Amino acid sequence: MDSEEDRRWLRTAIELSRRCPSSTAAYAVGAIVVAADGAEVSRGYSREGMPFVHAEESALAKLAGTGTDLSGATMYTSMEPCSARRSGPRTCAELIVAAGLTRVVLALREPPVFVHCVGVETLRAAGVEVVMIPDLGAEVVAVNAAVLGR
Ligand SMILES: [Zn+2]
Repeated sequence: MDSEEDRRWLRTAIELSRRCPSSTAAYAVGAIVVAADGAEVSRGYSREGMPFVHAEESALAKLAGTGTDLSGATMYTSMEPCSARRSGPRTCAELIVAAGLTRVVLALREPPVFVHCVGVETLRAAGVEVVMIPDLGAEVVAVNAAVLGR
């Protein structure tokens, strides 16, 4: 079930995705990590400071070594966390599971332009609750017009 709180955070993640350096070879994604108490603990976006970093990866990297309690935390991401990628050793779905997050809220499943993504299935198989709010997906498509050509 999604809530008004979920929609608000997801909209903020979509707004964040507009900051991604433009690319026709990769998506522009924004991601925000919110702890169980409802406070934001990290955020990231695609190609933030590094050419191939993914949004979820960037947000989680900032938490490494901080001792932040991520039990019950939610990852809000404008697009489905990757289950296959052309750059980087670990997928975002793997990183989310490894970090101990228990919930992911997303707007758009990854369109099959670069790889066949099964991030939602991968996360659910690992016991992560996945909530999709597809009516916000059109905005994510618009942000990714350079890749999706519409
Ligand atoms: Zn990724």
